[in-house]
Amino acid sequence: MTSTIRISIGGDTQFVDKSMKSTSVTKANSSKHSLNKQPRNPKPEEWLASKLSQQKIADYKPFNFVDGEGVRCSLYVSGCKFACPGCYNKVAQSFNYGTVYTQELEDQIIKDLSEDYVQGLTLLGGEPFLNTQICLKLVKRIRKVFGNSKDIWSWTGYTWDELQQESEDKKELLTYLDILVDGRFLNDKKDLTLQFRGSSNQRIIDVPNSLAQDKVVIWNKLVK
Ligand code: SF4
Repeated sequence: MTSTIRISIGGDTQFVDKSMKSTSVTKANSSKHSLNKQPRNPKPEEWLASKLSQQKIADYKPFNFVDGEGVRCSLYVSGCKFACPGCYNKVAQSFNYGTVYTQELEDQIIKDLSEDYVQGLTLLGGEPFLNTQICLKLVKRIRKVFGNSKDIWSWTGYTWDELQQESEDKKELLTYLDILVDGRFLNDKKDLTLQFRGSSNQRIIDVPNSLAQDKVVIWNKLVK
């Protein structure tokens, strides 16, 4: 007969194998919490924007100061499959959340970016690399209109190494970026004192230098 002990996590009662040799956990109540819950780890090209994206956005925030360096216009795309426990924007994990990306919105973003005091665009979500239809169209237009006078930052749940083994659309999006903040949000590495990221596994990567040197080069303005 299996011997179990009762423990309490976050107010929920759970039963764990007493010998602690087994990792199996039986929940007594429906629970938001899990002992070993981790983000998903896709195989290369397992998740594709062509199959997943509904080309929707969760939000657009012009003229903000928090999503990267300087004054920025931020586009939050809808849909992410990493399912990080503690995700900062859980509603945007659904590919159907929000509204369809339109030409009118894109025109507005270009107009907002043309203000002298705006440093650049930030892509986040949701997962920009699973919404490459939107993101590629937008970043190509930005480079056409502004050249390199506006910078482009993106957040992603993928790591740099994972993106090197990914689909062509994801690799193409990378070539238009200046900065990539990479990696899942990990609760056990959470650190709210870090610049622009929530957990210490995430990195602020200088994309052009990393592509040129074929290795991760960290942003040279990193303080912490
Ligand atoms: S990668 Fe980002 S958006 Fe996706 S689940 Fe994790 S924290 Fe949320």
